[in-house]
Amino acid sequence: MSNAKIPVMLPCLGEEEAQAAAEAVRSGWVAQGPRVTAFEKAFAERVGAAEGIAVSNCTTGLHLALVAIGVGPGDEVIVPSLSFIATANAARYVGATPVFADVDLATGNLTEATIDAVRTERTKAIIAVHQGGNPFDTRALRAAATRWGVALVEDAACAAGSTAYGRPVGEGALIAAWSFHPRKVITTGEGGMITTDDAEWAVRLRRLREHGMNVSAAERHAATQPVLEAYLETGYNYRMTDIQAAVGLVQLDRLDGLVAQRRELAARYDELLKGIEGVTPVTVPGYAESNYQSYWILFGAEFATDRDDVLRILADAGISARRGIMAAHLEPAYAGVEADLPNTERLTRHSLILPLHHLLTAEDQDRIVGVLRTLA
Ligand SMILES: *Cc1c(COP(=O)(O)O)cnc(C)c1O
Repeated sequence: MSNAKIPVMLPCLGEEEAQAAAEAVRSGWVAQGPRVTAFEKAFAERVGAAEGIAVSNCTTGLHLALVAIGVGPGDEVIVPSLSFIATANAARYVGATPVFADVDLATGNLTEATIDAVRTERTKAIIAVHQGGNPFDTRALRAAATRWGVALVEDAACAAGSTAYGRPVGEGALIAAWSFHPRKVITTGEGGMITTDDAEWAVRLRRLREHGMNVSAAERHAATQPVLEAYLETGYNYRMTDIQAAVGLVQLDRLDGLVAQRRELAARYDELLKGIEGVTPVTVPGYAESNYQSYWILFGAEFATDRDDVLRILADAGISARRGIMAAHLEPAYAGVEADLPNTERLTRHSLILPLHHLLTAEDQDRIVGVLRTLA
């Protein structure tokens, strides 16, 4: 058996991306410009939204989404603790209080019931995460948020290519934020996108990401006469560059193929893991198709080896796995925040993310599962 190292993930970048980036550089237009506009249009269309607003990363996208909604001091924002910490931090950026809700053990996602359990009259927004690309119940959560009069922000950082009820997860979302970090299925190095169907929000979001300017730099440069811009409110520099967008356009063309491949590999993991007692793979609900940005397994008490020992033994075998999704409420940054989150704590302590990327082979999967089998 081969002893070659197996990375947990690998961005899929080729000569086409290198060419596209080089063309942007040669064009002389390297900051936000025509390629960003083209990428916004193409991405929004692909995920089923009317508007795409490119930003520097998903974290800044979440921040601006909360600004657009009008979340501020005194407001509560319900978030899963089980998420990358940026989800909770976004609430703090606007001076609001993040309130942690538990997740469903099988899917890793918030549910109507777990949100309702922590909802108060101060709840202004919810940031629900499509966890590791596994879609939450869009129908149930969107309807509940409307009923409660609360804004639902969708943290779709991991969910490009995922579907719920046969539609891309961006379709029908009030507002969603996406990531193009190399850890995600498609990447622009760093980068993010906000999508929404609200044209007025889109105008304001474009302004907020560009210092609050009422005329974009691209519009100013394209004008034949001098244009005097005004700064309408305190904005930010959260722009994406044209070099990144050039790469993003190529990556977007790869998305369907990458997702199809990930689904095949995930289905194969499901099969291989069936015989191992005490191992439960992530459940993708019947209404959804995941892009499997993360494929995780949860160890039950029947499994003989402690999760952290499994990680070490895999590492010794040249296999790079990762601990399960983090839980923000267990980090020093959130020390002192009250939270009763049994499923979140079980998942973060007893789950593990298996390698999944475009160069992963069936032989690699056999090797990985082979090691797990010896530890059961
Ligand atoms: C990766 C990730 C983010 C942050 O994305 P960046 O583009 O790195 O800012 C936010 N939320 C979730 C759920 C993520 O997985």
